[in-house]
Amino acid sequence: MKLKRKDGKSVKKYYSYKENHRVVGGVKQKRCYRCRRWKPQSLYYKRRRSKDGLYVWCKECANKATNNCRRQRKLAERK
Ligand SMILES: [Zn+2]
Repeated sequence: MKLKRKDGKSVKKYYSYKENHRVVGGVKQKRCYRCRRWKPQSLYYKRRRSKDGLYVWCKECANKATNNCRRQRKLAERK
């Protein structure tokens, strides 16, 4: 598989894998793309498609985003 890239044109600046991953005291940590905080990988949802198998957002941020979406639907579902 080849990736096409023309002289950095229209190439988004992404944080590199190294910038967003580290190991502290034997615990793998990942930096949340949204809140930019370091959190252990256990606080991330799994996602097969991504490079490290984890979501780019921590669970907290992912939940917030989901809640915002639901709020816009105005309690379509009720318990
Ligand atoms: Zn977060």
